[in-house]
Amino acid sequence: MNRNWHAVLVRHLLLLIGACLLLGLLTGHYGLCLAIGLGAYLVNILRQLLRLQRWLSHQQGDEPPPEAHGLWGDVFDSIYNLQRRDSRVRARLQGVIDRVQESTAALRDAVIMLDSDGNLEWWNPAAQTLLGLKTPQDAGQPVTNLVRHPRFKDYFEAEHYAEPLEMRSPLNDRVRLQFMITRYGNNEHLMVVRDVTRIHQLEQMRKDFIANVSHELRTPLTVITGYLETLLDNAGHLNPRWLRALQQMQQQGSRMQSLLNDLLLLAKLEATDYPSESHPVNIQGMLQSVVNDATALSGERHHQIVLQASPRLCMKGSEPELRSAFSNLVFNAVKYTPDNGQVRVRWWQDDNGLHLSVQDSGIGIEGKHIPRLTERFYRVDSSRSSSTGGTGLGLAIVKHVLLRHKGQLEITSVPGKGSTFTCHFPLSLLAPAEMEEDPA
Ligand code: ADP
Repeated sequence: MNRNWHAVLVRHLLLLIGACLLLGLLTGHYGLCLAIGLGAYLVNILRQLLRLQRWLSHQQGDEPPPEAHGLWGDVFDSIYNLQRRDSRVRARLQGVIDRVQESTAALRDAVIMLDSDGNLEWWNPAAQTLLGLKTPQDAGQPVTNLVRHPRFKDYFEAEHYAEPLEMRSPLNDRVRLQFMITRYGNNEHLMVVRDVTRIHQLEQMRKDFIANVSHELRTPLTVITGYLETLLDNAGHLNPRWLRALQQMQQQGSRMQSLLNDLLLLAKLEATDYPSESHPVNIQGMLQSVVNDATALSGERHHQIVLQASPRLCMKGSEPELRSAFSNLVFNAVKYTPDNGQVRVRWWQDDNGLHLSVQDSGIGIEGKHIPRLTERFYRVDSSRSSSTGGTGLGLAIVKHVLLRHKGQLEITSVPGKGSTFTCHFPLSLLAPAEMEEDPA
């Protein structure tokens, strides 16, 4: 009801005062009548206030307000309406919360909410099954106390959550779990954990299949190329019509051999997370021999290959793996740089880490290809790549070797001008040796 209570109140007060004055006129006691009238008015206000207070404090459920008239009736009704609206909103919100909880309870993926310090706030039933969290005992515990694997601890504390973490379940060795963390709100974390055992098994089957096929193909191929070599050694006795065919067979045979070697190397790199052997590697010495091989590869094409490397700057890692990665980069620079072009190889250290860059003045790569270059068999121009004898696996090998050495590959290129491939390694891989300055 939207009555003008201000005017009503004034009217009531005027009427009360008028009645008191009239009574005073009749009795001759103006002051007393006025005091009794206003006192009665005040008592009524206090009585209604007490009823309101009693109703509010003893209210259970949807109990209607006490009967009242006038302004007090309006006050009671307004409060009652507000309360009903409030409880309707609350019921609606509770419904939403219930539905969210029901749907997250039905999820097979674990959903865990962590506060800004990484302590457990809320989790769904799947988190109990996948990670063994106990309700309510584990509430408020740091997540790194409950998932104790060092890889999880490193991942959680590093706060680089762009890529998910995959590792064995803390409860069952045969289960593989994938952890995905997203930050939200006031640096709180939402963690989703899923069982990826089946995907992992399929992936493993794929890797094993490629490794086995490559291995099985190796022996027959060695026999075939061996005979081809013998035949070509005796080319003088052969019908000249066959010579060209045999030469092409030998060329394709050696391409297949390098393809199988690369596939086997990739399979080996994927089989374990970290290099099996890790000791100080003299990178300068290794680069010198890679540059010598690259000069031999360049041959008549006369590339100018320059090496600038800090002589005593050593890095912890696997020598064969690093050699394979760096030689892929240097050989690519030679392959994709026209005759008489320049290739510059640098190895240095600065505050950000250890770096190896291979810069060429070659054909360059268009920006749209760069993000996909490290995919297996991805080629910018397949006709050119097959003419250079590439397998399409070189940069995939580089990516895997770097991953295993906590490194990152940066590619910059200007089509027609040249490309720079830079490998960045963390300072933690620096092998005990004297610090060197940037050679540039
Ligand atoms: P490939 O065996 O074909 O060289 P890679 O994986 O080593 O395979 O390289 C993938 C593709 O990246 C190549 O086919 C080539 O198109 C491009 N590429 C690699 N290095 C260079 C470079 N230095 N300059 C220009 N293009 C390059």
